Amino acid sequence: MTPNRRIVVAIDGPSGAGKSTVARAVAKRLGILFLDTGAMYRAVAWAMLEQAELGKGGMGTDEAAIAAFLRRLRLRFSEDGERISVQLDSGPARDVSAEIRTPRVTSVVSQVSAVPIVREMLTREQQAIAAGRSVVAEGRDTTTVVFPHCDRKFFLTASLEERARRRKAERPELEAVSLQEVADEIAVRDERDSTRSVAPLRMASDAVLIDTTGLSLDEVVERIVRECAELLPAS
Ligand code: C5P
Repeated sequence: MTPNRRIVVAIDGPSGAGKSTVARAVAKRLGILFLDTGAMYRAVAWAMLEQAELGKGGMGTDEAAIAAFLRRLRLRFSEDGERISVQLDSGPARDVSAEIRTPRVTSVVSQVSAVPIVREMLTREQQAIAAGRSVVAEGRDTTTVVFPHCDRKFFLTASLEERARRRKAERPELEAVSLQEVADEIAVRDERDSTRSVAPLRMASDAVLIDTTGLSLDEVVERIVRECAELLPAS
């Protein structure tokens, strides 16, 4: 059921609310691209960590140094939006899809994403990806900053306990980590993401709020697809 004009559906919400799974499934149902903006922040955080560990200089929060580094960096999604690769200058492109989900990256990503120049450059890139094609984007500021005039906006949330449970269930590497620790990590990230000065996580006034606590994936996807029905050609 592919739309016959360019449409943008944006989904924001706190960590672990199920945004990626839902956005991926909605994109598939609508036959359009899934845009995981968090993967882009994670890829930049990964690249900055690598650079620091290679002894090529930690950039701290020096915006000019970060901007210069980002200009050398190319992020590329696979056709289906599922995998992301990073290329520095004319070096080899490296698929970092798995590495960006490790606790090492997760623990620093919300600090990296709070740097204004990082947001500015990635926002521009996200808008360029969606220029001329339909997307289902998900993140923290896709409804408020990246695509403020998009066709449909959703804010997904769930209780902290439920979000921690889901995160733990979907990540085998968290098996040995306690539920409390996962919840604590999510709470720290929520706090950082909602209190930063640039593009903090907040619900857009025209977004549809969906509390997914106790709802199945299918129920959430159905609800969103239903809200998007008017954007699709009549069948
Ligand atoms: O969604 P995910 O957990 O992969 O996002 C990782 C981090 O990237 C978030 O905690 C947040 O700091 C940042 N992010 C953001 N804006 C977005 C998407 C993600 O600041 N649009």
